[in-house]
Amino acid sequence: MTRDIGLDDELPDWVGAKEFYLKYDPKEVIGRGVSSVVRRCIHKQTGKEYAVKVIEITPERMTPQQLEEVRTSTMKEIDVLKKVSGHPYIITLIDSYESSSFIFLVFDLMRRGELFDYLTEKVTLSEKEARCIMRALLEAVYFLHSNNIIHRDLKPENILLDSDMNLKLSDFGFSCQLGPDEKLRELCGTPGYLAPEILKCSMDDRHPGYSKEVDLWACGVIMYTLLAGSPPFWHRKQMLMLRMIMEGRYQFGSPEWDDRSDTVKDLISRLLEVEPSRRLTAEQALSHPFFQRYERKEERKFCPYRKFRVWIWTVLASIRIYYNYRRVKPLTKEVLMRDPYAIKGVRKLIDACAFRIYGHWVKKGEQQNRAALFANTPKAVMVTLLAEEERFHYADVGEHEFSAEQVIAY
Ligand code: ADP
Ligand code: MG
Repeated sequence: MTRDIGLDDELPDWVGAKEFYLKYDPKEVIGRGVSSVVRRCIHKQTGKEYAVKVIEITPERMTPQQLEEVRTSTMKEIDVLKKVSGHPYIITLIDSYESSSFIFLVFDLMRRGELFDYLTEKVTLSEKEARCIMRALLEAVYFLHSNNIIHRDLKPENILLDSDMNLKLSDFGFSCQLGPDEKLRELCGTPGYLAPEILKCSMDDRHPGYSKEVDLWACGVIMYTLLAGSPPFWHRKQMLMLRMIMEGRYQFGSPEWDDRSDTVKDLISRLLEVEPSRRLTAEQALSHPFFQRYERKEERKFCPYRKFRVWIWTVLASIRIYYNYRRVKPLTKEVLMRDPYAIKGVRKLIDACAFRIYGHWVKKGEQQNRAALFANTPKAVMVTLLAEEERFHYADVGEHEFSAEQVIAY
């Protein structure tokens, strides 16, 4: 989340960072991570603006183990960033420097900041806008997965927008390159976006591990959030939220969903599929009617195999959508009196007023909680989930809740 862009943040004494200072002029803070600060900076020779992510590796302020972890994960991040460089929907790493206390990563400057902030401003997005964003995101994911790279931290805070509203995926701090048939077991990501198999794997030693499918689950969570303005899985008690994720328990229940097409609901439900082998891949998601009915001009050239595959997908999805969602709710005076929030125009007005008054989304019941979006600590890793599982078996976790110490942010 973008914090105050102020000049109150004093420039730290970047010892040994001469090389960076010679080339760039650092300016105000435009974002923060757990162990990083992101500033706007100017390339002295050309006057061009960039963003520099400064990661602290100060031996005096960190344990040797923390220091080693941050260094290793940053080197891994740089390695992946170099491999994916040049893709239109992925942030470009321009330069990198390392001093004894800091690592500097210079990126394209994304002036409009996070998709998270854009969503906060707009409350919910139209299907057209969600289509545009999701198509770009899925293309980035498709590219990563084709290169056997998993991102593992897809969320609106890590999707950045430039001044022309072009999207770029960023923050490859949790990403990793998979070997052939390699599976992962590490519990990492941000709670609300974690796929069920990541949670199950951390609770069961015999679980085969997880793979690329976790990114598609996160895409489903993002897509739901863009259209509803609140996340699909949320509960005041975090353990219950994790249980909802593992069971794939979410609803298209809030009034926002009455205005949405069956096609978009179908795509979301195919991404929020608990069983990873049945979840859509990025390529399949891009072939879904939600995107295919609105192909981009440059994609319209004739390719028989692709056309045939898309045609099959469209027919199957249309049949599924028809049987799952054919129901129309008429708008009557009664509905208007009983539940004005169910009507799009009135809802937008109520939401806009509430946000202006409180400067924050207001909770409207367990099932519809925009404020929950703000509850995600950056890069929270539930490292004690395993220990927790030993104490409370999965079957009776319902009464328990993760404490602040159990959700360790690093
Ligand atoms: P972390 O790995 O610590 O989460 P990120 O790479 O996600 O760090 O950066 C933290 C925040 O800084 C982002 O969420 C975003 O608000 C801002 N930010 C990062 N890169 C850029 C960029 N290239 N342009 C503009 N803002 C950026
Ligand atoms: Mg981040």
